[in-house]
Amino acid sequence: MTSLPLVFDAPARARKPPRHLADLSPAERRAAAAELGQPAYRATQLATHYFGRLTDDPAAMTDLPAASREALVAGLLPDLLSVVRHAEADGGATRKTLWRGFDGALVESVLMRYPDRVTMCVSSQAGCGMACPFCATGQGGLTRNLSTAEIVEQVVAGARHLRAEGGRVSNVVFMGMGEPLANYSRVVAAVRRLTDPVPDGLGLSQRSVVVSTVGLVPAIHKLAAEGLQVTLAVSLHAPDDELRDTLVPINTRYKVAEVVDAARAYARTTGRRVSIEYALIRDVNDQPFRARLLGELLRTRLGTSRAHVNLIPLNPTPGSEWDASPRPAQDEFVSILRASGVSTTVRDTRGRDIAGACGQLAAKE
Ligand code: SF4
Repeated sequence: MTSLPLVFDAPARARKPPRHLADLSPAERRAAAAELGQPAYRATQLATHYFGRLTDDPAAMTDLPAASREALVAGLLPDLLSVVRHAEADGGATRKTLWRGFDGALVESVLMRYPDRVTMCVSSQAGCGMACPFCATGQGGLTRNLSTAEIVEQVVAGARHLRAEGGRVSNVVFMGMGEPLANYSRVVAAVRRLTDPVPDGLGLSQRSVVVSTVGLVPAIHKLAAEGLQVTLAVSLHAPDDELRDTLVPINTRYKVAEVVDAARAYARTTGRRVSIEYALIRDVNDQPFRARLLGELLRTRLGTSRAHVNLIPLNPTPGSEWDASPRPAQDEFVSILRASGVSTTVRDTRGRDIAGACGQLAAKE
C-alpha cells in the first residue's frame, strides 16, 4: 500500500512468492487459465477443488482432463509453505505449526479448538517491523510481507487437518506474526478469499474474522471504507502516550487519542464493536491508575457500547525481563474496567507449553 510510510515496507530485496490461485480474483483466475492455454471455466473448477474440497492434488481432480490438471496445478497451485514442525498443547486442542516459505522465511500459525468454534490464528508477515520490545517476533525485525495466498494457505492447511475429524475452521484471527495493516492490500485480499463463497473463496463469515493492528491510523480509516464486516482489534497495551511510546514504538507517530479516534470511526462506519487488546505486563502497565485511565479513555473517546477490552496475560519470552501480571493485579484491573462500564474479558492462554506466543517457535528455530 503506497500511502503507508516507508518504515513499514518489507526489504526491497525480498523475492516474491510464486503466483497462486488464491492471490487472484475470480476474473484474474480465468485470465490466468487462458494464459496457460486452458478454457477460462477451468479456473472455476480448479478453485472448487482448492477452496471447496481443500485439495491441490492433481490425481484427485478427476473432472479435469489429465493434461489440463498438470498445467493448471503447475501454473496456479505451486507449493508455498512447507511444514518445519507441529507442536501440540492443551491436550491436542491447540496445534501450532512452523512453516518455511519458498525463500526460507519462517512463519507460524495456530489452530485452537474451543467447545463452540475452531479459530485459526494466522501470520500476515514473516517477522514484524513494529519492534514492540515485549514480543519475540518484534525482536527479529521484518523479513518480508506474506503474499495473499501464503496467508490463505495457513487457513486451508488448518481446514484440511480438521476435515479428517469432521471439523471445520469457523474463525480466523490475524494475530500471528506481523502487523496486518502494514501488509494492507494482501491482507484485505486474503480476507476476501477467506470470506467469498465457494468456489470464489473459503466461505467463512466476515463477522468471524478479526484483523488486528498496533494502530496504523490511515490504514484503519482505509479498512473502514472497504465495506467489510470484520472485527478490528487494536493492540493498545497502554492508555497513555508516555508508556505506549515505549511499549508500541509506532505510538511516537500515531498517538493514543488518534488511534482510539480511528477505532471509533471504524466502529461507526461498520457498526462493529472494536476489540481493545491489552497485554498485562507485571509492574509495567497493570497498575490500578492505568486501568482507570483506560476506562476513562474508552468511555469518553470510543463509547462503552463500541468497545470490548480483551486482556491478555503476557506469555513471557524465555530470558525476557517482561513478565505476566500476578493474578491479583489482573483481577483488580478487570474490576476497575468493568466498574467504569467497559465490557472486559481475559483471554484464555493457549499453548503456553509450546512457546504459544507469536514468534517464539520461529525464534527457537
Ligand atoms: S506485538 Fe505484534 S506488532 Fe508488535 S512486534 Fe510483535 S507482531 Fe509486531
